Amino acid sequence: MVMNAKTMQTEAPPAQSEITNLLERLAQAEASLEAMRKGKVDALGICESSGDQVLTLKGSEKHYRLLIEAMNEGALTILADGTILYCNPRFAEMVQTPIKKIIGGSLYHFVEIKDHSSLQRQLRQIPSVGVKAEFTLCATCSTGVRLPAQLSLRPLDVQGVSMVAVVATDQTDRKRYEEKLRIQKEELEQRVATRTAELTQVNEALQAAQEELHAHARELEQKVTHRTAELQATVSSLEQFCYTIAHDLRAPLRTMHGFSSALLDDFAPALNDVARGYARRITDASTRMDEQIRALLAYGRLNSSEMPLISTDPGPLLEQLAKSEEFKHARVDLRTPLPKVFANPIALRQVMENLLGNAVKFVAAGTVPQVCVSAKAQGDTVRLLIEDNGIGIDPKYHHRIFKVFERVTGSAYPGTGIGLAIVQKGVERMGGRVGVESEPGKGSRFWIELRKADEASETPGSTSVVV
Ligand code: ADP
Repeated sequence: MVMNAKTMQTEAPPAQSEITNLLERLAQAEASLEAMRKGKVDALGICESSGDQVLTLKGSEKHYRLLIEAMNEGALTILADGTILYCNPRFAEMVQTPIKKIIGGSLYHFVEIKDHSSLQRQLRQIPSVGVKAEFTLCATCSTGVRLPAQLSLRPLDVQGVSMVAVVATDQTDRKRYEEKLRIQKEELEQRVATRTAELTQVNEALQAAQEELHAHARELEQKVTHRTAELQATVSSLEQFCYTIAHDLRAPLRTMHGFSSALLDDFAPALNDVARGYARRITDASTRMDEQIRALLAYGRLNSSEMPLISTDPGPLLEQLAKSEEFKHARVDLRTPLPKVFANPIALRQVMENLLGNAVKFVAAGTVPQVCVSAKAQGDTVRLLIEDNGIGIDPKYHHRIFKVFERVTGSAYPGTGIGLAIVQKGVERMGGRVGVESEPGKGSRFWIELRKADEASETPGSTSVVV
């Protein structure tokens, strides 16, 4: 049915009739639109100044058709058995076949044989919301085109006939991209595998080198232990040899001293001054040499003798020393009580005797020697300090004076040059340290450090000894 819109453009009567006419035309227009909406009208005739025009429903569908034809996806309408009712140019392009040859044919002709059963399955039971699946499209012509595509299938009911709307999306780019990604991934994996293998190799080489090093270190340690034992044996045999020599030297020395003294005692009147002077020099020299040999023997004994350490109170030992004849002329200030230390009482006595002896010996002429002995506990050690008002020592000699026969005061003061060597050796053998702070003219402060022996740290079985 075609409705002519011309009736809507009749000549206008005066006001009231014009309104009536307009209301009629409005009612007609609404009826026409309702009829078109319900599908009762296929076309609408419109009279215009430029001439009559018919607007058909086919015409209004046209833009949908244009859209489908212009779209970049393949679009088809097929029956459930695959018969193609409609195809757009893009699909024809994808399968490189003219549209004429496609329409009426079967979709199966354009799908690779291996995908047929899958397509059949999909077409047999498409859910109402549709389904998407991957297929390989191919051309029936000789170009041999093979195109990966995603087919989106959706059921359609066209005036009671079951159809399927198909949208085919070319997946070539996606596949190419996926393939590229896959190759890159494979390359990456390959590189990682190669690198891992290299690292494993390096690691193995490192481990081997490390093992070799350890073996070498063990070998070296063994050698060092062996050599140390050899050296210790050599040193102790040398020490024994020195000790024997020193010991044996005392006998002829005593003879020299005895005869030179006898010469002076028994024949002094028969000798002239020069001869007496010679005899006296022999006596003095042999006395000095004997002192030195005895000091050396004491030093040697410190090396070779056993030195058990016990908890020792240095206070009484120092008090005893201070009262002895040697220190009568000096003022000795003992800051007792002093903390107990782990020491060998005999060695500690020898060490203190030497330090106190030096403290009262190396003072300027006319000065009354003053010595102060105090202690400082530092963690698990005790530092015993011996300070004097003596001549002091130039710091450049501080490291030398603890060596055997090192004297820095010349012959102005008597001595063997072994006293401080004995101090150092004795303290070391007791597991301690020794040092000095001094400057010329400002006195000296010698110190020794020993392990503190408070009640809690005393070893079981050790006894507290007062020397
Ligand atoms: P010795 O006392 O027999 O000379 P030591 O080994 O005891 O030998 O001392 C070495 C040197 O260190 C001494 O000759 C002296 O020069 C110096 N010395 C040691 N103690 C003191 C001190 N308290 N004051 C100044 N100098 C000292």
